[in-house]
Amino acid sequence: MSAKEDRTALMEKIVALCKRRGFVFQDSEIYGGQNGFWDYGPLGTELKRNVRNAWWEDMVSRHDPLDAPTGAPSTYQMVGVETSIIMHPQVWKCSGHYDLFHDMMVDCKQCKARYRADHLQVRFGYTVSGQKPVVAFSFMDGSDETKWSTGKQAKLQKETTRRANDQSVPQESSPVSLPEYLHQIKELFQVSDVPDELLPSCPKSSCGGQLTEPREFNLMFKTIIGALGTDDDAAFLRPETAQGIFVNFKNVIDSNRVKLPLGICQIGKSFRNEITPRNFTFRSREFEQMEIEFFCAPGDSQQWYQYWRDRRFAWYQNLGISQANLQLRDHHKEELAHYSIGTADIEYRFPFLAEGEYGELEGVAHRGDFDLRSHMEGKLTTGPDGNLIVETNEHGQPKYRGSGKDLSYFDDQTRERFVPHVIEPSAGADRATLAFICEAYYEDEAPDDKGKMQTRTVMKFHPRLAPVKAAVFPLVKKDGQPEKAKEIYRELREAGLAVTYDEQAAIGKRYRRQDEAGTPWCITVDNDTLSDGTVTLRDRDSLEQVRLPSNEVTDEILRRMKS
Ligand code: ATP
Repeated sequence: MSAKEDRTALMEKIVALCKRRGFVFQDSEIYGGQNGFWDYGPLGTELKRNVRNAWWEDMVSRHDPLDAPTGAPSTYQMVGVETSIIMHPQVWKCSGHYDLFHDMMVDCKQCKARYRADHLQVRFGYTVSGQKPVVAFSFMDGSDETKWSTGKQAKLQKETTRRANDQSVPQESSPVSLPEYLHQIKELFQVSDVPDELLPSCPKSSCGGQLTEPREFNLMFKTIIGALGTDDDAAFLRPETAQGIFVNFKNVIDSNRVKLPLGICQIGKSFRNEITPRNFTFRSREFEQMEIEFFCAPGDSQQWYQYWRDRRFAWYQNLGISQANLQLRDHHKEELAHYSIGTADIEYRFPFLAEGEYGELEGVAHRGDFDLRSHMEGKLTTGPDGNLIVETNEHGQPKYRGSGKDLSYFDDQTRERFVPHVIEPSAGADRATLAFICEAYYEDEAPDDKGKMQTRTVMKFHPRLAPVKAAVFPLVKKDGQPEKAKEIYRELREAGLAVTYDEQAAIGKRYRRQDEAGTPWCITVDNDTLSDGTVTLRDRDSLEQVRLPSNEVTDEILRRMKS
């Protein structure tokens, strides 16, 4: 098997396990499903909740404002908010999402499939086929088929022939994105529209229909507020949780006696009408974000940016992602948003990507004072008669579209007033959960009940993330074993651990069931338990089994959880 086939096969196994064991289901599956929407089953719900909890505990509730964590430039505070999904429409105008949150997309005129233009890669070249000059192009999107297209118009024919005969023109370009291909074709042939015959055909080799030119597509989901439902009542589902934090910055400062440096954190659903949702839950239309907006003095912002890049990168490793599968990639200058001083992506080597490719888990951005400034623009100024007025443009409309509220901060130690700079570590809860699932998936060989070696599928979740921490079994359903096992099970539950009890099927089968669910420890009550009071504690990863007194089980599990 090639590396690509290996990775595809691995992803297929992971998706199958997710469905079989109740981690993730296609949304509305009994009605045929909905592209880009996913539901979590019982195990997936616990796993994702543990991911969110780990983030919240590590970033917010267990943060000690009196002590600077390793690497932090100083002490700082962290607080949380929970804001509305539907915000005032003006928020999206100020944030830039209304005007700028577009992707270019192309449709197949025949099969109606929709693709994000920058996701399609094209190679092209010029040659002569059967006396005809042709431009050849092939998609790099799975199909290696080369589609030939004759240049019908005289201008194209002449230019294509010249290029086909010119030895200095490469026979085939290196892969370029579809928008780049179209741009180059327009430039080369000096045409304003790409002629139909040079518009690539659908990457699905079974279709071959023609693609449209790229068109803009706003990613925000629109909705209507109220019963009358006119366009004036249009609103949007938030495409990110960050704006709920920015618009509440002043409220938090004024109500909580908090000082900068300060992180305001939020976990919540976001919605993007993605053109091509794909790769399981990686690109969904409804997903959950875990965002920090970290407000600091402009002069300290560079140091804080470095701190958050490293801190967030370490977070994934502390929860079990191996360094070999994780990278911190600084954006090139051209990739940066116009206001951004620096951005780094934390990326994971998802198995659905080609060998050597990584997908974004989290972006850590230094956003300067762009966000607060955008929301405060339109600040009132004092008119000639001493009244406060909104500055207007030449059409008499407000010159700025911000709230006009002062969102600056007064530092009572330095006696300075400034608009805080913001460092934004913005993570996806679903992408993180998917990365933890992919990382956890493992196959090895272990003996079954008859001592025969069998392939064992194990989800090696970090104990903090594991949906179930321990399972308790009686070896047989008699001789007082179930009663003793239930006693241990209840004690573990009372200690606050997610634990399960299982007395069905042979013991080996029960271990396998827990291995697939990612349960780190299994406790078995057997004949000896009733005579000497000891039980077997089995470790999921090492398969090591130790005997210990049944009344020490809970402490031992709690100790292992902490180590
Ligand atoms: P991409 O380039 O993959 O579209 P992005 O750079 O637009 O992502 P951000 O706007 O920085 O993403 O959002 C922050 C985080 O939210 C991402 O790192 C990712 O984990 C998550 N996220 C964004 N879009 C989606 C989506 N469609 N499905 C699932 N998670 C998403």
